[in-house]
Amino acid sequence: MKIKISNANTPTWKDVTVKSRIPEELKKLEELARNIWWAWNYEAIELFRDLDPALWKEAGQNPVVLLERLSYETLEKLAKDKNILKRMNDVYAKFRAYMDVQPDAKRPSVAYFCMEYGLTHVLKIYSGGLGILAGDYLKEASDSNVDMCGVGFLYRYGYFTQSLSMDGQQVAGYEAQNFGSLPIERVLDENGQPMVIDVPYLNYFVHAYVWKVNVGRVPLYLLDTDNEMNSEFDRPITYQLYGGDWENRLKQEILLGIGGVLMLKKLGIKKDIYHCNEGHAALCNVQRLCDYVEGGLTFEQSLEVVRSSSLYTVHTPVPAGHDYFDEGLFGKYMGGYPQRMGISWQDLMDMGRINPGDAGERFCMSTFACNTCQEVNGVSWLHGKVSQEMFSGIWKGYFPEESHVGYVTNGVHFPTWSATEWKKLYAKHFAPNFMEDQSNEKIWEAIYNVADEEIWATRQALKNKLVDHIRKQFSESWLKNQGDPSRIVSLMEKINPNALMIGFARRFATYKRAHLLFTDIDRLAKIVNNPDYPVQFLFAGKAHPHDGAGQGLIKKIVEISRRPEFLGKIIFLENYDMQLAHRLVSGVDIWMNTPTRPLEASGTSGEKALMNGVVNFSVLDGWWLEGYREGAGWALTEKRTYQNQEHQDQLDAATIYSILENEILPLYYARNRKGYSEGWVKTIKNSIAQVAPHYTMKRQLDDYYSKFYTKEAKRFKELVANDYAKAKEIAAWKEKVAELWDSIEIVSCEKNEELASGNIETGKEYTITYVVDEKGLDDAVGIELVTTYTNAEGKEHIYSVEPMEVIKKEGNLYTFQCKHSLSNSGSFKVAYRMYPKNVDLPHRQDFCYVRWFV
Ligand SMILES: *Cc1c(COP(=O)(O)O)cnc(C)c1O
Repeated sequence: MKIKISNANTPTWKDVTVKSRIPEELKKLEELARNIWWAWNYEAIELFRDLDPALWKEAGQNPVVLLERLSYETLEKLAKDKNILKRMNDVYAKFRAYMDVQPDAKRPSVAYFCMEYGLTHVLKIYSGGLGILAGDYLKEASDSNVDMCGVGFLYRYGYFTQSLSMDGQQVAGYEAQNFGSLPIERVLDENGQPMVIDVPYLNYFVHAYVWKVNVGRVPLYLLDTDNEMNSEFDRPITYQLYGGDWENRLKQEILLGIGGVLMLKKLGIKKDIYHCNEGHAALCNVQRLCDYVEGGLTFEQSLEVVRSSSLYTVHTPVPAGHDYFDEGLFGKYMGGYPQRMGISWQDLMDMGRINPGDAGERFCMSTFACNTCQEVNGVSWLHGKVSQEMFSGIWKGYFPEESHVGYVTNGVHFPTWSATEWKKLYAKHFAPNFMEDQSNEKIWEAIYNVADEEIWATRQALKNKLVDHIRKQFSESWLKNQGDPSRIVSLMEKINPNALMIGFARRFATYKRAHLLFTDIDRLAKIVNNPDYPVQFLFAGKAHPHDGAGQGLIKKIVEISRRPEFLGKIIFLENYDMQLAHRLVSGVDIWMNTPTRPLEASGTSGEKALMNGVVNFSVLDGWWLEGYREGAGWALTEKRTYQNQEHQDQLDAATIYSILENEILPLYYARNRKGYSEGWVKTIKNSIAQVAPHYTMKRQLDDYYSKFYTKEAKRFKELVANDYAKAKEIAAWKEKVAELWDSIEIVSCEKNEELASGNIETGKEYTITYVVDEKGLDDAVGIELVTTYTNAEGKEHIYSVEPMEVIKKEGNLYTFQCKHSLSNSGSFKVAYRMYPKNVDLPHRQDFCYVRWFV
């Protein structure tokens, strides 16, 4: 027999997943890893790190990956390590004590919707400020023990990672996340199968899996469309954050709002308040309207109920920052909804338009949010004002300063953003209830009792840590993208932890003016090369891949940083993310921010700096306009001197140089015999004692409750009681007023001759009387006398609003009267304003019918 040369069939491979088997003694680690409570509890992080420091680094500081990769031998060894076991048990006891507290049922419950969440660098579902804010908010909701859940996306790619090419061009990289290695859990349905949410997209469904992140006590639910139930056209909906075209963006917003509400329903979750963090989630109110209509209410009644329980937070100060959709595209996916809500297509489109009926106007998510949420807020005092202006077209008949649009100034989650060294310092010197009472200025005043040397040493330790990190972390990438090794060595040597370090890190949007510092290159070169006052600038930040101008700024700064006179003095650090942010806001001496006023809605990185004894030097815009105190940092005035932006930039740059030369550098280098600057430490102490207590996330959360949630939840309860009796009553009343509004008639008017001709005297009292036929409405209108003046910039503002009193009623005839006098002389305008009057309305903009007359 001839023997075959070879004889083998093809193997049938069976997939085997080797799960690391954690010994019984170490089981608690698994539970700890799956709740990102560790992200803001350093004992937990240090415990994971010390299991295997080298592997911890390799695992990207992700406890889930760490546990997966620990070898069986190491695990066996750890299981016998008394010290590790004790630490694990201590951390676990702390965790359980935290988790076992029941949520506070006294405060209203909240469903929080956002496109992105910055919780830890491990979970790449954030890009920048908005996400960090949302992540910090959920963490504080957990710490404050309120009943809240988050709704968002689990992105396959998330936002990009940044590297630089040889010539300083930003290169965007997208790495797929392996969901199995993330600190998340898959949500299962009642049959133990992966839960699937079916979201209608006009004539088909998109199917989304549900994942859960345990944020301490608060669950964050994430939708994920990257699965085989969906076509290639729909799988990418949750690929990228702020990537893709407008069509994909609309599909994302449908998934977030509509899919988000469907998911909560499937999970059996009902909350008192639905909070749209930015307009992206506004369509949640479409689904909620459908649900109430399908439950038997009319559209108008449903709108009353939905409005009373929703809040919209806007984060941009410019109309261009909102999402607009062409009618055709919007209709392609949303065409089926009007019928379900019992309205027409035009009605739905008009809810997203400033000028209802204007067929040329696109559907704006923000306008829709304003029309379907009872309350709206900006994210700082100034941004609140700017938002009143920005949205004033929606509520015609009222001046921006009369708008109900409010504000809550953004804060930061203190345990996340203060470095361990500072947490230990605070724990040592502050009252024991500090964490629960973070907004209490009295507690923070204890910083004045801390020895100057301890503050200086803490700062210095964190600076050294930052410098070490830069030397270790960046030498490799710099060698790769800058060639010349001798220059890199020289650069590394020049990084000097004893120099004053100034940090500037944020998104590279042009309005943030990263280029401002480079307006006068010669003067800057003199400043950084003064041997008496060494100073270094650290820059970091990503530009959106579609933002050519922003990428140009990065390139320009990188180019300047490579010039001999700036080598080691101006340094650009790649891939700004939460981890790098953490190091920068705790490692530098000064945090600088130079936005174009008033485009920084709030900004939060400077608040993170505060908590770490890093002093702010910024334009008085966003939060710093409220936060700045003399002696607690430095400020560029909020006054605009030039309309021309280039001139304004030059002036601002000159001011920066001069404050640096004359104030900041001399103060930092005014060293006493003990080697530190007393004036500098005093500035740090002032900034911690007087500013920091007002910018914690606890203060922000409490503000949302006291300004919005509590008030809305109370009204919502009243509206839905007794089978929606109040909601039905208000809707019926509004319908009647709307029907008769145009027929309301001013029957007669009596006013003094001088007043009628517009020539009056100060201090003199004039009586005005109007008789109005309300045409069957029962005391449903109010009238007020509105006086305005024109300010120096030519803008008209409210001077006074005087209500007219009903003094007589005869059938349908109501007599209104008021006594009018002005104490200031000058030029004014006067008119009368009629509005629907009802104590059950939350504010005038809730039912914005206005008729002006003279
Ligand atoms: C805090 C933070 C931001 C937001 O900071 P701003 O001051 O609003 O620019 C952006 N990105 C990261 C990574 C952050 O940590």
